[in-house]
Amino acid sequence: MSTTTETRQFQAETRQLLDLMIHSIYSNKEIFLRELISNASDAIDKLRFLAIENPELTANDQELEIKIDPDSENRELKIIDNGIGMNRDEVIDLIGTIAKSGTKEVLEKLKADKKPDAELIGQFGVGFYSAFIVAEEVTLITRKAGETTGVKWVSKGDGTYTIEEVAKPNRGTEIILKLKPEDMENGMSDFTQTWELERIIKKYSDFIAYPVRVHIKPEKKEDGSEAVAEEWKIVNSQKPIWTRSKNDVKEEEYNEFYKHISHDFQEPLKTIPYKAEGRIEYSALLYIPQKIPFDYYFQNYKSGLQLYVKKVMISDAVEELLPKYMRFVRGVVDSSDLSLNISREILQQDRQIAAIRKGLTSKLASTFKEMLEKDRENYEKFWKEFGITFKEGITSDFENKDKLMNLLLFQSSLEKDKLFTLKDYVGRMHPDQKEIYYITGENRELLENSPHVEKVLSRGFEVLYLTDPVDDFVMQHVTEFEGKKFQSIGSGDLHLGDEESKKKSEKKVEETGKKHADLLAKIKEILKDNVKEVKVTDRLVSAPACLTGEGYDMSLHIEKLLKRNGESTPSPRRVLELNPEHAIFKKMAEKFTQNADDADLPRAANVLLGYAVLAEGGDLPNPAAFNREIVSLLDKAL
Ligand code: ADP
Repeated sequence: MSTTTETRQFQAETRQLLDLMIHSIYSNKEIFLRELISNASDAIDKLRFLAIENPELTANDQELEIKIDPDSENRELKIIDNGIGMNRDEVIDLIGTIAKSGTKEVLEKLKADKKPDAELIGQFGVGFYSAFIVAEEVTLITRKAGETTGVKWVSKGDGTYTIEEVAKPNRGTEIILKLKPEDMENGMSDFTQTWELERIIKKYSDFIAYPVRVHIKPEKKEDGSEAVAEEWKIVNSQKPIWTRSKNDVKEEEYNEFYKHISHDFQEPLKTIPYKAEGRIEYSALLYIPQKIPFDYYFQNYKSGLQLYVKKVMISDAVEELLPKYMRFVRGVVDSSDLSLNISREILQQDRQIAAIRKGLTSKLASTFKEMLEKDRENYEKFWKEFGITFKEGITSDFENKDKLMNLLLFQSSLEKDKLFTLKDYVGRMHPDQKEIYYITGENRELLENSPHVEKVLSRGFEVLYLTDPVDDFVMQHVTEFEGKKFQSIGSGDLHLGDEESKKKSEKKVEETGKKHADLLAKIKEILKDNVKEVKVTDRLVSAPACLTGEGYDMSLHIEKLLKRNGESTPSPRRVLELNPEHAIFKKMAEKFTQNADDADLPRAANVLLGYAVLAEGGDLPNPAAFNREIVSLLDKAL
């Protein structure tokens, strides 16, 4: 065995994070113990799982357990587990670096804050590093199951650590904290007092499935007999929280368990205990987080639920237990009806897993319904974070589509800063209104001011404003709600009112179109690279022009997204609609009759196109040319 000690640097991100953590006012210092016990428990879970196939890993072994050993004279605290352990490479990889994508971005944000927010730091699942909140030096000695040598890692949290091989008689990990001085004012209590340790363990780690033992040292009476006998006292109840009756579990206990499995530092928004009985029996404990995890949109975001079979953890993230559009849900599922040897491949097509997914989906849908009806405030919180994900269900979960439609929330023209359901909308529809009007676009402000909505609003009808990138796609999968059809006011023909007035206005538009056919053809010729058609319309009120799509054409919103992602978009599919009642159109018509080749016509056509593009938040096809036209028109006008 080599005895050389190597000094290494922390990865830059790790150093920054440690720095922030040590210097931020982390008021709740005691959580370090929860984090270290949580890691120890995960390590034992991993070992137990591997031992299913490799029983020799735990053969004739002592009990799987977590031990807490305080030494008040030396102000030291040890956290010991006999879990999976780590080898040298793993220590360097796992302890010296933060692998999570998105870390850099969040750190940048944190640095910009004067007073870094503990909550934000918590998003990393600071786990092991939380040791540095209470310790001036941390030593980690670990030996991986199945290997023969151990590794010793030491750091003061100041940018470097040392690592060397050491002899370690048994498998697992031992963490030795050299505690900072007691400082009650700043929440640094004496973490070597056994009563204090017991309190913290009961508070945060009661549900841990393995015994958490605190070393009670013997106390001698004056005559030499023992007043307190030495023992390794089990402090936690060890009862898996999901097997307990929900009436017996305190909210804080549910919350602490959530933090253990999610690595989130915040309380969950909603806790959902569930027991299914029948053809397949299982217990589940599900949680809706308050906030989108910072790495949610990165590829290696781990979604899925923990799966236990007969109380042994089989996997910490089984995606198949939830439909994709509920991938923000965290929690555990425990079933005795599954086989312990269930493999990843089997999970994907296992009928029992599919049955559990179905059961959980409908439990979640009914929970959301209840929240919407009885706890609207929290439902809206949920919606603001996860609505975008949840909506995907409309396009993929046909079985529950009707239920999901009732759970959608929308912004509307009725009131700013409020969200409404389709039921709300339909319930107050104008008696003359036949359809549900909506428009999609980048943001509310743009939609409110778009030429398209003016007419609908002027009739006193309400318009739903859809501003999420997925909305166009979602709306292609809905046709009606409670017998009312959806009508996009940004595409296709728009007719307000009854059949008779519809016919009348159609006829009028047709006649106007015929009358100006040559002019429209001319404008089409000028703009042929950017629009597929030019026509007159009765859609507009005060605006001279707008762009529309037809039926299922890609909206501008989607087009922009595709472009931003570097995808090529098909040739122009948009229609330029002109307002024949507008003074600009009338003047163009006049000029055209006088001289079909009037130089002002291409100018006006290009400016109108630019106007229409800008009105819906689009990117001008040629901004420099647009500016030139504007300046020259202005020049002339002045
Ligand atoms: P997290 O637990 O959120 O992954 P940590 O910084 O707490 O982050 O730990 C990083 C990794 O180090 C863990 O994922 C685990 O692989 C490893 N690790 C930490 N503590 C232990 C332990 N007691 N035994 C074995 N591995 C551990």
